[in-house]
Amino acid sequence: MSDLVLFWHRRDLRIADNLGLAAARGRSSKVVGVFCLDPNILERDDVAPARVTYMIGSLQALQQRYREAGSELLILHDNPVQAIPNLAQALNAKAVFWNWDVEPYSQIRDRTIIDTLKTKGIEFLTHNWDQILHSPEEIRSGSNTPYTVYSPFWKNWSSKPKAKPVETLQNVEGLTDTEQEIAQKAGVKPLPTAKDLGFFWDGGLVIAPGEAAAQAKLEEFTAKAITEYQQQRNFPAVDGTSQLSAALKFGVIGIRTVWQATLEALENSRSEETTASIRTWQQEIAWREFYQQAMYNFPALADGAYREAFKSFPWETNEEHFQAWCEGRTGYPIVDAAMRQMNESGWMHNRCRMIVASFLTKDLLINPQLGEKYFMQKLIDGDLSANNGGWQWSASSGMDPKPVRIFNPASQSQKFDPDAEYIRRWLPELRSIDTEYLVTGKITPLERRAVGYPQPIVDHKKQQQQFKLRYQQQKVTTIAGDR
Ligand SMILES: Cc1cc2nc3c(=O)[nH]c(=O)nc-3n(C[C@H](O)[C@H](O)[C@H](O)COP(=O)(O)OP(=O)(O)OC[C@H]3O[C@@H](n4cnc5c(N)ncnc54)[C@H](O)[C@@H]3O)c2cc1C
Repeated sequence: MSDLVLFWHRRDLRIADNLGLAAARGRSSKVVGVFCLDPNILERDDVAPARVTYMIGSLQALQQRYREAGSELLILHDNPVQAIPNLAQALNAKAVFWNWDVEPYSQIRDRTIIDTLKTKGIEFLTHNWDQILHSPEEIRSGSNTPYTVYSPFWKNWSSKPKAKPVETLQNVEGLTDTEQEIAQKAGVKPLPTAKDLGFFWDGGLVIAPGEAAAQAKLEEFTAKAITEYQQQRNFPAVDGTSQLSAALKFGVIGIRTVWQATLEALENSRSEETTASIRTWQQEIAWREFYQQAMYNFPALADGAYREAFKSFPWETNEEHFQAWCEGRTGYPIVDAAMRQMNESGWMHNRCRMIVASFLTKDLLINPQLGEKYFMQKLIDGDLSANNGGWQWSASSGMDPKPVRIFNPASQSQKFDPDAEYIRRWLPELRSIDTEYLVTGKITPLERRAVGYPQPIVDHKKQQQQFKLRYQQQKVTTIAGDR
């Protein structure tokens, strides 16, 4: 057995503040990274070109970081279940290390790989919860059950001390020339472009790929915008949020580094308002963990509603309405602006994610799973746990204790895009229309025709009544059925 430890990167595309990688370095001075382009993931029908483009860019940056540290990042393009143990065996590695993940697919895959490594007599180390600040085992209720409500989760989660960033990998040994040749024979290939993989994206990226860009974004955000986050975060025309979601999804920045930055911001805070803003942002970080822990503890969430009343909800099947929603042609300006932002930029503001999700489920009465999938097909930050959590929250089908939440597109625009700046930015055909009509949606049929903007495809008032009616009936049936 050689001294080589392979470190398998998955959702941790960085070398700084990486728990598993630091552990690998503790085990050996010869640490080589590997990333496996998994066809089981890349060939699914919910993969966004923007997301793949960001991931490939971040892998390029990671290769560079490895070179600077004295080693390398190897690329495989195969089923990891065979490819990872085969590579480890071919290189005579003494161990494979990686960070654990909450997603159901990843857990099944990893358990199979562990079994194979065991049969091959190769050591492994996996149980580092690198993506989150606390493991699901650590955050349990008084009766030792997982939390299903955010507020008590936050209370418990925020009271626990958090780990500091871990040491960055440096001064490591890479492969010898002979080992390089062996690696190539075992399937190691050059890193492809997103286009090589069949993903075309020319919409730009809200965040540049790679560790350095994510770190710079964090520093920029925590220097200023975080102090006004509470006031600004709900206005989609304002750059008031961090746009770190893609970096967090792929682990291009360490969560301990992010938390540390919030603590430093708190230390520098000179007013109650600033402190409250920073705390609010910390709560968003906790929402992310809440949804990851929910996915870990209740993997069935990935397949549908949590609440009984929604498991057999009579959703509409209306392909025309669904397409209009996807393409931003519903005739509701704030909804259409938001969908076009996502289609064109690969990202959507959180307030708008809630508005369009409510519109799909409560106005069009379309199954949230269709919207959830469409988001995954478009978002640079598309993430199973956060996306599923957001959709279940918006559809009222999730763990959230408030049963029915219906957003009125007009009052949402009036409150959060009062000057229609966001609407005009993404719907240029409406630029000449008065703000009042844009935010209330009361654009006349004549004006709509003149600028080529669609008539509203449904009536919000009627549709929300219809939703409530179906929900009431569903609740009665479910309760009766449960008896
Ligand atoms: C229907 C719907 C779908 C969503 N899909 C996704 C998704 O696929 N991927 C994703 O990362 N987020 C998703 N979110 C959550 C949220 O909209 C985004 O995380 C946020 O808009 C990203 O922008 P930001 O980085 O500027 O966030 P900030 O406001 O700066 O927040 C900081 C970080 O906290 C986390 N966060 C913030 N809000 C939430 C939240 N409500 N739930 C979970 N994590 C949160 C994110 O990691 C985010 O980067 C979804 C929300 C809804 C309502």
